[in-house]
Parts: sequence; structure tokens; C-alpha cells
Amino acid sequence: MEENKEKNMQNKVVLVTGGSRGIGAEIVKMLANQDYQVVLNYHQSEKQALQIKKELWQKQIEIFKADVSKREEVKALVDFTLKTFGTIDVLINNAGISKQKLFTQITDDDWNEMIGTNLNSAFYCTQQVLGEMLRKKQGCIINISSIWGVTGASCEVAYSTAKAGMDGMTKALAKELGPSNIRVNSIAPGIIDTNMNQNLNKEDLENIKSEIPLERIGRTEDIAKCVKWLIEDNYTTGQIICVNGGWYI
Ligand code: NDP
Repeated sequence: MEENKEKNMQNKVVLVTGGSRGIGAEIVKMLANQDYQVVLNYHQSEKQALQIKKELWQKQIEIFKADVSKREEVKALVDFTLKTFGTIDVLINNAGISKQKLFTQITDDDWNEMIGTNLNSAFYCTQQVLGEMLRKKQGCIINISSIWGVTGASCEVAYSTAKAGMDGMTKALAKELGPSNIRVNSIAPGIIDTNMNQNLNKEDLENIKSEIPLERIGRTEDIAKCVKWLIEDNYTTGQIICVNGGWYI
């Protein structure tokens, strides 16, 4: 029985958006090393994407360039995944950007970019994979949202709005898709050591650490492990899983 389960896992096809760097790259590596079949989506970091594919040359991994804030590029990405691996079992909506600005200084372009990349992308990708998941009556969708979507962050109103929207989508979709055996969950990371936080200096990081019960900044593996667990689970849906060292409880 356990053996069969393992076998099924190894056949699973996973699409990771924003897989070229940071959390997405860690998820790609962890899953490919567990013999999942992985499509790594990237936008600007082609060199990094190629490097990951090279590192994992013995594994089943393909890379595909697409700006996931654009529906037509998402369609090409999902078509590529279906053509390459024949199906899609898991979608990880991970691609994201952040920007700090006072609310009064946010322009329409800033707002649209933030919502487009962090939220519309999840809408487009999810709609695009659902044809196949509904046909199979099986699927797992994981949205990488953020602690800021839950608590709100000063000077990151657009980002917090997009991430809260993602969590709303998770809960509503979990209800709509549960009867079709498709699970939808969010992982809301706290602060994770990636380029996204390069604006924080040593002192900022020490201050943040002092507020975290587990007394450390998160690592990309902390999120990747949770992703793997959610994929392998069968009975968790509609949840916002806060992987944040206890920073917000
Ligand atoms: P990074 O900045 O390290 O990586 C961002 C990734 O998103 C890159 O692979 C980038 O690809 C991709 N990306 C950005 N825009 C697009 C786009 N339009 N189309 C396709 N891919 C795109 O960030 P993290 O790894 O830290 O963040 C990953 C996710 O985790 C994000 O959604 C972020 O909001 C969330 N998060 C991160 C936290 C943190 O502390 N780091 C905390 C909470 C949430 P490329 O370089 O190829 O353009």
C-alpha cells in the first residue's frame, strides 16, 4: 500500500511559477530530487533557471519562460506542461514581487503591477490548469501568500492586498473545488532569507529575529518542506498555513 503511494507521488507533475530563485527554486529542487516531474517557470532569470536544470540533469525537469501576470503567456506555460509531461497534478502559485512605498505615493502602475504579478497570476494559472484537474477529478493547488496578507504591512498596502486576495481565493476555491477532489491551500511565510528581503540591513533583521519565538529568520527549505507535505496530504483544504517561526500567532 505504502509502496503504491510512493509510486504515485513519483509520477506527479508539478508546475512551479517563479521557480528560478528563492523559495520557488528551493521547491523545484526538493520536488525534483524526490522524483516528481517538474516544470520550472521563470521570467527574467534565465541563467539561474538553466543552472538549476543543469544541476538536476538526472531528474525530470523542464524550464519555461513566461510572465505569469499575462494570461496568454500563462496559457503557453500550461500548454507546454501538458505537452511535455502529459498532465498536471500540482500547481504552485509562487511567483511574486514586493515594493515598499507610502500608500499616498502608490501610482496606478505600481498598484496594477503588484496585483497583476501577485494575484492575477494565481487567477490565470489556476483557471488554466483546472481543465485537466477537473477532467481527472484530482489536483492540488498551493498559493504562496504572505504573513502580510494576514496581518497587513505598513508601506506595503498593495502587496498586502494582493496576498490577502490570494488567501480569499484559497478559501473560496477550496469550497468550490472540494467536491471535485481538488485541494487548495495557502502557505503564508513569515520572513524568509531570499533576495526579496535584500532591502533589510543587519539591524533590521536582528530586530525582526527578536520578535520571532523560534529566534531565527526562515529558510527556503522551511517553505519547501511544507509544500511537499501539502502535496502528499489528502485531507487538508482551504487552509492558510502560517510558516513563520511563531512571528504571528
Ligand atoms: P524572490 O525575489 O527571491 O523570487 C521571486 C521569484 O518570482 C523569481 O523566481 C522571479 O522570477 C519570479 N517572478 C517575479 N515576477 C514574475 C513574473 N511576472 N512571472 C514569472 N515569475 C515571476 O522572492 P521569494 O522567493 O522570496 O518569494 C517567493 C514568493 O514567496 C513570493 O510570492 C513572495 O511574495 C512570497 N513570500 C516571500 C517572503 C520572504 O520573506 N522572502 C515572505 C512571504 C511571502 P525571475 O527572476 O525569473 O523573473
